[in-house]
Amino acid sequence: MKTTRRKFLTAVGAGALGAGLASKGVLGKAPAVQRDGTFDVAVVGAGVFGAWIAHELQSAGRSVVLVDAYGAGNARSSSGGQTRVIRMGYGDKEIYSRWSMRALGRWQELARRSGRAHLFQESGVLWMARERDPLTVATAKTLERLGVPHERLERAELEARWPQIDFGPITWAIHEPESGFLVAFHAVQAVVQRAQGLGAEVLAARVAPPAPGPAGQGGRLAALTTDRGDRVRAGTYVFACGPWMGKLFPEVLGERLFTSRQEVFYLGSPPGERRFEVGSIPVWADFSEEIYGLPDFRGRGFKLAIDGHGPPVDPDTVERIVTPETARRVLEYAGRRFPALKGSPIVGSAVCQYTNTSNGDFLIDRHPEMENVWMVGGGSGHGFKHGPALGEYVAARIEDGGPVDPRFTLATKEAVQNRAVY
Ligand SMILES: Cc1cc2nc3c(=O)[nH]c(=O)nc-3n(C[C@H](O)[C@H](O)[C@H](O)COP(=O)(O)OP(=O)(O)OC[C@H]3O[C@@H](n4cnc5c(N)ncnc54)[C@H](O)[C@@H]3O)c2cc1C
Repeated sequence: MKTTRRKFLTAVGAGALGAGLASKGVLGKAPAVQRDGTFDVAVVGAGVFGAWIAHELQSAGRSVVLVDAYGAGNARSSSGGQTRVIRMGYGDKEIYSRWSMRALGRWQELARRSGRAHLFQESGVLWMARERDPLTVATAKTLERLGVPHERLERAELEARWPQIDFGPITWAIHEPESGFLVAFHAVQAVVQRAQGLGAEVLAARVAPPAPGPAGQGGRLAALTTDRGDRVRAGTYVFACGPWMGKLFPEVLGERLFTSRQEVFYLGSPPGERRFEVGSIPVWADFSEEIYGLPDFRGRGFKLAIDGHGPPVDPDTVERIVTPETARRVLEYAGRRFPALKGSPIVGSAVCQYTNTSNGDFLIDRHPEMENVWMVGGGSGHGFKHGPALGEYVAARIEDGGPVDPRFTLATKEAVQNRAVY
C-alpha cells in the first residue's frame, strides 16, 4: 500500500467532513478526523464485504472510514437478512471450500469475542442428492481431500435420522455436521462494532458515483463526495456496495453484474411441532430443484428460498413484497418434502437481491482508470459466509500491492451469464 500511515487525531475545528457531520449528528460518536481530513482507506458499503475489509485494514494499523448510506446490515442490503448458510462444500471449486473453512473459524472467534454466541449456529448442513449428481459427488471429493468433517448418508440412514423429511427422489446425501448458519445482520453489525472499537470511523452518508476528472487527479480518485456535499479523502478507496455496484460504476460494471430479485419465505410449524427447529433438522439444500432452507431459529419460522436467479432488479426501486407465484412454488415444495408442514402459513418473508457475476466468482479488482480505487462485490448468492476470508484477502492485496487471482479480476467477468459456482 502506497499511502503512509498517519496518526489518527481528533480534530478540533475539523474541516468540512468533521464539522458538517458533527453538527448533523450522523456520526456514532464525536467526530475524529485526521487533521488534514485524510484517512488511509475509505471503504464504501458496510455489508459483509465492506465490514470485514474495514475491520482487517483497521486491525493492520490503517486509519479507516467506513461509509454506508443506510447503515451496517440494513434491510435493503444483501447482508441484511436474518440468516445466511455457511457450508464448506462447493463442488470442485476448492478455493471457496478453503475460504469457508478459514471464514468459519473467524466467525466463531467473532461470536466468542463479541459475547454473542448466537451469531453462528452449528446446525449441520445436508446436501441432498439424486442418483447421478455431479455437484454433490465433486463436493464429497473436495471435502475428503481437505479433511472437512462430513458423512455420506444413504437413503435408509436419512429416513432414520430425519423422519420429518420425505426424501422423494433423493437417494443419498452429504452431511456437514460442523457447518450451519450465521445470524446475518447481527453478525455484520458485530464486525462493524469491532472495527469501531479498533478505531475505525463509521459514517452514515450516500456516496456519489466516483470519477476521475473534477474530483480526481491523473487516474486517481481524490475524494468521495456525499449527497450532502461532504468530502471524504483517503489514499485508497474500496467500494463494496453489493447490488449498487453497477449504479456506482455503470460504464465498467453495468453489463458485468447481474442483480437478481430473490424471495425468502418463513413457514410456521403446526402447534407443538418442534421438529423443524435448530437442533432437530439441519440446513438443507436440494440443488436439483434450486431450493434450500434453514431450521426455525428462535421462532422466526422454517426458512425456504429459491436459489435460482430471479428477474433483474434495482435495489433502490425493487418492490420488497413477495409474489404469489414464488409463494405457491415454495409452499408446494414444503408440503411435498416436509409433510407435516403441508398447509402451514407463511409467517414471514423478505425480498433481497443477489449480485451475480457471469459465473459466480467474486469481483475483486482495481478500477481500470482510477488506480487507488478497488471494486469488491459480485457475492453471487454465496458471498456472506466468506466475509472474513475475503476481508483478509482484500486487505492483503491493498497492503502488498500484489496481483489478485485471475478468477476475481474484472477481465474474467463476462457480459453473459454462465453460472459455474454453486
Ligand atoms: C436471499 C439471499 C440469500 C442468500 N443466502 C446466502 C447464504 O445462505 N450464504 C451465503 O454465504 N451467502 C448468501 N447470500 C449472498 C450474500 O448475502 C451476499 O453475497 C453478501 O451479503 C453480499 O454482501 P456485500 O457486502 O457485497 O453487499 P451488501 O450487503 O448489499 O452491502 C452493500 C452496502 O453498500 C451500501 N451502499 C450502496 N451504495 C452506497 C453508496 N452510494 N454510498 C454509501 N453506501 C452505499 C448499502 O447500503 C449496503 O449496506 C444470499 C443473498 C440473498 C439476497
